[in-house]
Amino acid sequence: MQGLSRLFSHLYGVRFAPAATAPGEVWHDDVRRLDVLSDTDGHIAVVYCDLFQRAGKNPNPAHFTVRCSREILPADIPHDNDGMATAPSASGALYQLPTIALICDFSSSPSTTGTNTPPLLAFHEVTTLFHEMGHAIHSILGRTAYHEVAGTRCATDFAELPSILMEHFAHSPAVLALFARHHATDAPLPQELLRRRMLASTHLEHSETYQQALLALLDQELHAGPPMEIASSTRVYAQLEAEHALLAPGYVPGTAWQGFFTHLFGYGGLYYSYLLDKAIADRVWTAVFANDPLSRDAGERYREEVLRWGGARDPWRCVGSLLAREDLAEEAAVAGRMEEVGRWGIKEQIK
Ligand SMILES: [Zn+2]
Repeated sequence: MQGLSRLFSHLYGVRFAPAATAPGEVWHDDVRRLDVLSDTDGHIAVVYCDLFQRAGKNPNPAHFTVRCSREILPADIPHDNDGMATAPSASGALYQLPTIALICDFSSSPSTTGTNTPPLLAFHEVTTLFHEMGHAIHSILGRTAYHEVAGTRCATDFAELPSILMEHFAHSPAVLALFARHHATDAPLPQELLRRRMLASTHLEHSETYQQALLALLDQELHAGPPMEIASSTRVYAQLEAEHALLAPGYVPGTAWQGFFTHLFGYGGLYYSYLLDKAIADRVWTAVFANDPLSRDAGERYREEVLRWGGARDPWRCVGSLLAREDLAEEAAVAGRMEEVGRWGIKEQIK
């Protein structure tokens, strides 16, 4: 959390301050409150962190917007301002204070590891925390007139851009140097260890990408026509495996695991969002942040072109302005831009 606070301080001039909670304010003793403080605007958001697994708790990491940001007009403020939480802004406009719940499922809870050992996160858990915080910062820095379009309430296939981009920050040596130290010796994270870990995960990443592409195709097939025309989702899945067949053994007869894949109805034709946003996030990372992941100029540019808009601006305009590719937002680009982003996603090492 300190590392994330330092990162956001570099990029956006905002930081986290732990805050005490009032009786009844949180739903469990594990929940910690962070106030988000801005150098220019003061108190701009509240984040409740519920990070450790426990019986009866949903294991899926998630970000919930309890209350969205929105502009508050003078006429909205009740006469006695009975507790309406507001966040000022440098422009003088008043915003509703966004309130966010960040849920993870980390196993090393302080209560299970003993009092003297801090919770030690695996690398993939750090990545998860950064991912969810990417959604949170979208909600925190949103500055839209209406709450329906605040932060993460943007086009579904654009909503994973800020979170996947944060995974790049989680893997950046410059960012890890802000906080990643041995809990007992205080030694910094060895760069060689990080390099080997990143190398090992690229192999896994390729098979994951294939699996995601296959599921995105299945999702498209299942939602392409009237549902009654799909006699068997298993047959469609097996057919796709046979067509693409990149990984042995392909479809295993008698299995139907896609029946457990709830994203197929949760996303309803939008499961490709992860791959699309991954390709865009890779491009944004390379073009905007890779040279200096702590650059305030880059952070401000990204905030101004993407984060503040939520769903109140065409996402292609956001990405186009950020990457100095205004042509992506033009009418004529509609047919070709998805294909272009697809090409961004093809990594050179895949032959
Ligand atoms: Zn996400």
